[in-house]
Amino acid sequence: MSVGVAILGSTGSIGCSALQVLGRQRERFRVAALTAYSNAELLERQAAEWGPAYVGIVNGGKGDEGRGKGKGVQCLVEAATHPDVQIVVNAIVGAAGLEATLAALRAGKRVALANKETLVMAGELVTRTARECGGEIVPVDSEHSAVLQCVTGRESTELARLILTASGGPFRTWTPQRVAGATVDEALRHPTWKMGKKITVDSATLVNKALEVIEAHFLFGLPYDAVEVVVHPQSVVHAFVEFVDGSVLAQVGFPTMELPILYALTHPARVPDAGTRRFDPVAAGTLTFEPVSTDLYPAYSLGRGAAATGGTAATAFNAANEVAVELFLEGKIRFGRIGETIARVLDQHHAGDAATLEAVLAADAEARRLAREAAWR
Ligand code: NAD
Ligand code: MG
Repeated sequence: MSVGVAILGSTGSIGCSALQVLGRQRERFRVAALTAYSNAELLERQAAEWGPAYVGIVNGGKGDEGRGKGKGVQCLVEAATHPDVQIVVNAIVGAAGLEATLAALRAGKRVALANKETLVMAGELVTRTARECGGEIVPVDSEHSAVLQCVTGRESTELARLILTASGGPFRTWTPQRVAGATVDEALRHPTWKMGKKITVDSATLVNKALEVIEAHFLFGLPYDAVEVVVHPQSVVHAFVEFVDGSVLAQVGFPTMELPILYALTHPARVPDAGTRRFDPVAAGTLTFEPVSTDLYPAYSLGRGAAATGGTAATAFNAANEVAVELFLEGKIRFGRIGETIARVLDQHHAGDAATLEAVLAADAEARRLAREAAWR
């Protein structure tokens, strides 16, 4: 029997890559549910190709609700908890993915998680839900997949330190003054990865790496001072893991999300797959590593600060960033304003306990309100 997979956000960058992977693994997996936000046309084509038991669209689509079809935000939870689904690929961008992750974990399913924002906004709640309900979170993010691949089969007490790599984004060689005035087009020109707009901007501010540090803390249980970041412009080494004896393992490969997506579906097993370019060290060329410049990426330091504060500070950091990135992409604020907005929100936020959904949602809403105000001042 094949394993039923739901893809939430199937029309996005990760969603489409996941379908690419599943297209080569039809004996092992079937697509059991698909959801999209508003791209009804692509969703319909995907549904016609895969014949899932459930298809949902959050916003729009034709009026045809019926057996196996859903509309509105509740379709995410319906897809995530569908009886035909064993693995939920959460490829939604931003806070909108939280409830579906929680619902899938409560139903005891595996969540192949690309939607890192929700582990940042509610890490304690999400990991506790997984523990208590028998659900499982397996990262899709390439750095975290790399760590998982290095630590699988080891005890957590053998782990000493993680070093996540960051490409440095398109502004790695710019001056901070020039970066502050960067245009949307410039911010969307990522040197090594082709991704959705929000994460591409997050890679330019390095907020993405701050989110990933928090994500790693919750996934692997290490304190923040044991989760380091190094800039590695070639994006060939995805992460290093240091063990207590001082030995270091790394996972390497040409940048592609298809490998981490496949691994999230099959972990801890590996299955044959001929779909991605095989690694060639000579073609990879010279690999370089640099420290993170805090002058160039002020928002990265803010994220680490929020992580150290703990509780809802990370929730506020994530919410402020989501609002600021949206305003930047709409052309309403300049690039440098993203970090300034986050800083103002964190200054005003009173971090509290982030253990319940109510507390997390309240902190998220408050930070969004503060961010909308702060962005203009
Ligand atoms: P994307 O913008 O290409 O796709 C996101 C998808 O989410 C959309 O296509 C839509 O179907 C859905 N969506 C958006 N808003 C929604 C809402 N309010 N409710 C329900 N569904 C909604 O983004 P992406 O690049 O595929 O990224 C998705 C997630 O994966 C993000 O959290 C990102 O950080 C993470 N991620 C992406 C990559 C990558 O290579 N693209 C790598 C690592 C992690
Ligand atoms: Mg990543």
